[in-house]
Amino acid sequence: MLIVQKYGGTSVADAERIQAVAQRVKREVDAGHQVAVVVSAMAGVTNQLVEHARSISRLHDAREYDVIVASGEQVSAGLLAMALQALGVSARSWQGWQIPILTDDAHAKARIEKIEVDTLKERLAGGEVAVVTGFQGIGPDHRITTLGRGGSDTSAVALAAALEADRCDIYTDVDGIYTSDPRIVTKARKLERITYEEMLEMASLGAKVLQTRSVELAMNWGVRLQVRSSYNDEQGTLVVGEEEIVEKEIVSGIAYSRDEAKVTLNRVMDKPGVAANIFGPLADANINVDMIVQNISADGKATDLTFTVPKDDLDRTVEVLEGERKNLEFAELIADRNVVKVSVVGVGMRSHAGVAQKMFQALAEKGINILVISTSEIKVSVLIDEEYTELALRSLHHAYGLDDD
Ligand code: ADP
Ligand code: ASP
Ligand code: MG
Repeated sequence: MLIVQKYGGTSVADAERIQAVAQRVKREVDAGHQVAVVVSAMAGVTNQLVEHARSISRLHDAREYDVIVASGEQVSAGLLAMALQALGVSARSWQGWQIPILTDDAHAKARIEKIEVDTLKERLAGGEVAVVTGFQGIGPDHRITTLGRGGSDTSAVALAAALEADRCDIYTDVDGIYTSDPRIVTKARKLERITYEEMLEMASLGAKVLQTRSVELAMNWGVRLQVRSSYNDEQGTLVVGEEEIVEKEIVSGIAYSRDEAKVTLNRVMDKPGVAANIFGPLADANINVDMIVQNISADGKATDLTFTVPKDDLDRTVEVLEGERKNLEFAELIADRNVVKVSVVGVGMRSHAGVAQKMFQALAEKGINILVISTSEIKVSVLIDEEYTELALRSLHHAYGLDDD
């Protein structure tokens, strides 16, 4: 079998952890498998590198940002290759550009376009373990790119697809995918299986256990994806097609995201074309607007408009809107970073009514005010004050009968 394994930051946090990973890899090699390992930077390193970049300049050249933040993975790949060699396992490290992992030119959030795997395949067939840097690739201009935070998951799935691997195992610091973040909801239950579609929704709504793009790739390429712990040998969670799930839950999980900020424009003119005038310039500035709510005006003249944008884009959003103030004629702009988006996810919602109502009821009982609501076929999201994150997650988890007692 050909296996791709991916180890996240905590799994390669220090020499001891790296040696434990090497042992795990050796086990698969000894069992006669070909193994490609994708590694993240050691825990905390990428955050530190991002801080270094920000301390020099807030509005920096994204190409240089990538040069800086991609360096963490180079270190952990080298260390793991060394640790494997020390165990007598033939191994070498590969950086994104050496393979190469070819991406587009969207620095800091690049997408993998192609991985040339011929050489890698030969080496693997020859019994050498490939230790590949996650998170990074090389752009059309031959400069280093990175795939967005959490991008090593995507490197692993893309590599598994390109190598036509039999399995892609994502090793992390929890032993699977849970009904909610187990670090906040202590009664969260581990799922044996989850559909690609539900995991995609959970990831895009903030569940950081897998990067959204990695789930998308796994779904499109039929990669057999498993999330499991690098600390024990417990069965993890399989991400599978809907046909492989026997019992479908109405609600499979509850996710949250602290990555959005709320913007309110008070007393905007209530006339045709206003929304286009507001969101047009934001789209031009490449700012993704997520949730939107507009009130009906009492006097037929002016109304309030509230929406969310990524927190990282809040400063730019304010700048763009203030720049358009003459056209937009709003009375006041209020920006709020202290919000969280909480979402209930489940494919069963398609055929069951009352899911949203249960959410509103549960939050009302705890006195939690809902600021914005948005829905899709398989999820309901609400924006609330950040201070209620834990309370909201635990109450909803209980209300939908997900608690593990
Ligand atoms: P790694 O460094 O291994 O990539 P991450 O921190 O990116 O690890 O992802 C694992 C974390 O995801 C867990 O520690 C957990 O707090 C968080 N998480 C959020 N939602 C979930 C969920 N539904 N199931 C499991 N883990 C979750
Ligand atoms: N090291 C990168 C990050 O912290 C990539 C990853 O861990 O997946 O975002
Ligand atoms: Mg991660």
